[in-house]
Amino acid sequence: MKYKIGALVILLTLLCFFNYVSAKNKDLPLLSKVIYLDAGHGGADSGAFYKNVKESDLNLKITKKVMDLLKNEGAIVYLTRYGDYDLSVGNAWNRKRSDLSRRANIINRSECDLYLSIHLNAEDSGTLHGAEVYYDTINPENKKIAEIFQEEFKENLNTTRDYKENSTKYLQRRVSRPGVLLEVGFLSNSSERALLRDDTYQNKIADVIRRAVNIYFSN
Ligand SMILES: [Zn+2]
Repeated sequence: MKYKIGALVILLTLLCFFNYVSAKNKDLPLLSKVIYLDAGHGGADSGAFYKNVKESDLNLKITKKVMDLLKNEGAIVYLTRYGDYDLSVGNAWNRKRSDLSRRANIINRSECDLYLSIHLNAEDSGTLHGAEVYYDTINPENKKIAEIFQEEFKENLNTTRDYKENSTKYLQRRVSRPGVLLEVGFLSNSSERALLRDDTYQNKIADVIRRAVNIYFSN
């Protein structure tokens, strides 16, 4: 009898423990998820450049904010670059291609659960504005990820733009892990440029990305 009660107590304790762990995993959908963040451009390649504002600098700032938020929720986060440099090797003439193919290889080898390339948009008229998402069909998850992110952008970042399938993006075409490219605003639009440079707005973008990542992993 004594042993039976002992065994029952152990069983109940274990049940409580497993319930606790599964409840905790439900509360923390990002726990132990591996996420690769790719801040676009860097080094000699500034990306879009308007009125002394480099896309590469803002991409990295926003990316690091996203990293901090995701780490806080238990995700394991890596960046393709942590400073103002690119990943190219060899001679300069194919610098861009070398940079992007190394980023793609790093992300593919990581076997991450999700990757996000973070960029700013630009176009000649200076009138377009708003965040939008690009995905490639190389991974069937990508369209779903694009939908989730665009929905969050529409709800929280005052954009009417839509997500797009785009197979011309060099990196996205080569990454088989699930993920998308986020163009979080237009640097070519003067009022959006002012917002994108603002630390509070950068925090807001990072938080919207955090929310979308949570929705993706909660589904
Ligand atoms: Zn870019």
